Amino acid sequence: MNDVFETLESEVRAYPRSWPAEFAKSSGAIQTTTDGKEYLDFFSGAGALNYGHNNPVVIAPLIEYLQSGGVLHSLDMKTPAKRRFLETFERLILRPRGLDYKVMFPGPTGTNTVEAALKLARKVTGRHHILSFTNGFHGMTLGSLSVTGNSMKRRGAGVPLTNTSVIPYDEYLDSAMSDLVWLERALQDSGSGIDTPAAVIVETVQGEGGLRAARAEWLRRLEQLCHRYEILLIVDDVQAGCGRTGTFFSFEDAGIVPDIVCLSKSISGSGLPMALTLFKPEHDVWSPGEHNGTFRGNNPAFVTATAALEHYWADDEFQNELRDTIAALHSRLEEIAQSVEGSCVRGRGLLAGLLFEDAEHATRIAAEAYARGLLVETSGPSDEVVKIMPPLTISSAELERGLDILTEAVRQVVR
Ligand code: PMP
Repeated sequence: MNDVFETLESEVRAYPRSWPAEFAKSSGAIQTTTDGKEYLDFFSGAGALNYGHNNPVVIAPLIEYLQSGGVLHSLDMKTPAKRRFLETFERLILRPRGLDYKVMFPGPTGTNTVEAALKLARKVTGRHHILSFTNGFHGMTLGSLSVTGNSMKRRGAGVPLTNTSVIPYDEYLDSAMSDLVWLERALQDSGSGIDTPAAVIVETVQGEGGLRAARAEWLRRLEQLCHRYEILLIVDDVQAGCGRTGTFFSFEDAGIVPDIVCLSKSISGSGLPMALTLFKPEHDVWSPGEHNGTFRGNNPAFVTATAALEHYWADDEFQNELRDTIAALHSRLEEIAQSVEGSCVRGRGLLAGLLFEDAEHATRIAAEAYARGLLVETSGPSDEVVKIMPPLTISSAELERGLDILTEAVRQVVR
C-alpha cells in the first residue's frame, strides 16, 4: 500500500502509515479530510484516543485552562493542575482498586515510561538482565527496543541489542503454558546460563504483536514465578490500559498486582503526550536527579487527564456501557471469523483483531476498508491481523456501520 502514499519531499521513509488522504478535522469517531470526506476511525491514534477525537469532556476544560493563563510547562514544579491530577488519579483509580503505587511522570511518551521501568528494576534489584516475550512491543528507544520481540523493529538499531532476553512465546495461548515451565526450569538450574533477571516485562494483550491476549491464569503464574525469584513484574499497559480491555488497567480481572505499571497513550484523555510510571513505595529508590526529563510537567495534559478520569471513571456507568460495546464488537467479529476459513478473533475488549491465514489478506482488507471510509490498521509480525480499535466512546450506530464496512471489505478480499 505504501506506493500510493504521496509523501512530502522532506518526510522520512520510516513512517509506515499508508492512507493517502490529508486529515483536517476530527470529532468523536470521525475524521474528515481536507476535501470533506469522512472516515470512521477504528484506529484511535494507535490507542492514544480512547475517548475519541476532540471530546468536549476534555476540550472545554483545556480551552478554559489556556484562556485563564494557567502554567503550560513546569518540569517537576508544583502546580494546581498536577496536584488535581494526582489527587484524582489516587481517588478514582488507585484507591478503589486497593493499589498502593508511587506515580512518576517519566516524560511524554510510552517509551519514556518503559525506559524508567527498566532502569528502576535494575537499580532496585542490582541485576541487569530483563526478560520479555516474542512479539511484545515496548518502544523504539534503545532500552525499550531491546525488550521488543520483533526482529524487523530491532533491525532499526543497526547492531544487536544486549542485556535482555526475549522468551519464545509460542505457547502464549496454549493451555500447556510451556513457556513458563521452560522459564522456571532455566531459573532453577544454575548452569542454564540464564541469570536471574531484574524484571520481566509483558503486555497483557500484544497491541503491535498480533493482538495475542494472555490468559488470566497465565498472568497469575507469571506473577507467582516473579515473586518466587524476586524478579520485578512490569506490565506495559501503554496500549492496553486506560479502559481499552474493559477495565482501567488491563490486568485487573487477572487479579495480579504488578510491581511496575507503564501507562501512556490515552492517560491524557485528549491525545496530548503524557506518561506515568507506577511503582511500589518500597521501590522509590531514585535520589533527586537520578531520573527525569524536561517534559515531565505537561500541565495541559494534566488538565485533560483529570477531566477524563472525573467524567468516565467516577462511577460504573461508563464501564457498563463499555461492556455492551465490547460484547457487540466481539459478536460481530466472531460472525466475520466464522465466515472465513482459518480466520479467528484475537485480543480482548476493544483491543481486538481478526487473524487471517493468508497474511496478505489483512493488508488488503485494511486497504478495502479505507476505500469504503473506515480506518483500520494491521498488526502482527507479518501484518496478518486486522486490528480493530475504535474509540471506547463510539456510538452503537457508528460501531455497526464500521463493522458493516469491515464485513464488506472482508468479502471483497476473501471470496
Ligand atoms: N508500549 C506499548 C505496549 C506500545 O504499544 C507502545 C506504542 N505503540 C509503546 C510502548 C511505545 O510508546 P511510544 O510510541 O509513545 O513511545
